[in-house]
Amino acid sequence: MTPPVSDNAATIKQIIHLAAVLKAPRITESAARLADHARDSGWTHETYLAAVLEREVAARDASGARLRIRAAGMPAAKTLDDFDFDHQPTARGPIQALASGAYLTEHRNVVLLGPPGTGKTHLATALGVAACHQGHRVLFATATEWVARLSEAHDRGRLATELTRLRRYGLIIVDEVGYLPFEQDAANLFFQLVSSRYEHASLILTSNLPFSSWGTVFGDQFVAAAMIDRIVHHADVIALKGASYRLRDRGLETLPSIKAELENLD
Ligand code: ADP
Ligand code: MG
Repeated sequence: MTPPVSDNAATIKQIIHLAAVLKAPRITESAARLADHARDSGWTHETYLAAVLEREVAARDASGARLRIRAAGMPAAKTLDDFDFDHQPTARGPIQALASGAYLTEHRNVVLLGPPGTGKTHLATALGVAACHQGHRVLFATATEWVARLSEAHDRGRLATELTRLRRYGLIIVDEVGYLPFEQDAANLFFQLVSSRYEHASLILTSNLPFSSWGTVFGDQFVAAAMIDRIVHHADVIALKGASYRLRDRGLETLPSIKAELENLD
C-alpha cells in the first residue's frame, strides 16, 4: 500500500532530519531518489534499506580513503593500474598478491630492491594507496626523513611514545634506504623503528642496494644483520631489474657511461 503523496513528502522530510542527526548526508540525497526507483522496480523494504545504507557506507569509505591518502604524505599519486608490468614481468605475480592487503593483517613486510628508475617508489606508493583504500592508516617518508623524525622525538625524550604512536599506522613506508649512509645514532634509531614494528605492523622498504651492502649503510655489519633478520623474517622481497623506466625509449641506456653505471648497480 503506497501512502498518499503528501504523507510521502512528510516522511521524506523526517528522513532528511533523521539523516542529519545521524550525520549521514548521503541518506538525505539517496532516500527519496531510491524510493522512487524501489517502487518502480518492486523492491522489498529490506532491499531499499540496504541500498540506501550501502550508498552511505560507500561514500564514507571513499572519503576516508581520500583523507588517509592525503595524510600519508606520499610523493605522487601512483597506482598499480599505472604500472607497466611488461617492463617488470617477474614483479607482476608478487605485487598482485600483495594488492589484496593480506600482508597488512599478518604484519608482514615488503622489501623492494633494484637500481634507480625501476619503479620501487612507484610500487611502494601504489601499495600505500591500496592500503588506504583497505582502511589502513599509512605514513610515507624517506629513510633520511624517518631518522630525522625519530631523532627529534629522541631529543625531546619522546622516542618510546613516538614509536608506540607509529604502531597505530598499519603501514609505514621507508623509501630510499641506502641513498645516504647513516651515522651510528641514526642507525640505532632506525633499528628501533624496525624492532618496534616487528610482528606488530607492516613496513615497506625500498633500496637501490642489495642486503649485502646494508652493512655499509648502517656503519656496522652486526646492526645491519640484526635489522635485516627482523625485516625479512616475515617479508616478501621483490627484486626489480633492468634499465631505468625514466630512460626508456630515449636510447640513453645505450650510452657507454650510463650503461656502465646501470651494470654496476645490478
Ligand atoms: P625508483 O624509485 O626505483 O628509482 P620510480 O618508482 O621513482 O623509480 O620510477 C621512476 C619513474 O618511472 C616514476 O615516474 C614511475 O612512475 C615510472 N615508472 C617506473 N617503472 C614503471 C613501470 N614499470 N610502469 C610505469 N611507470 C613506471
Ligand atoms: Mg625511488
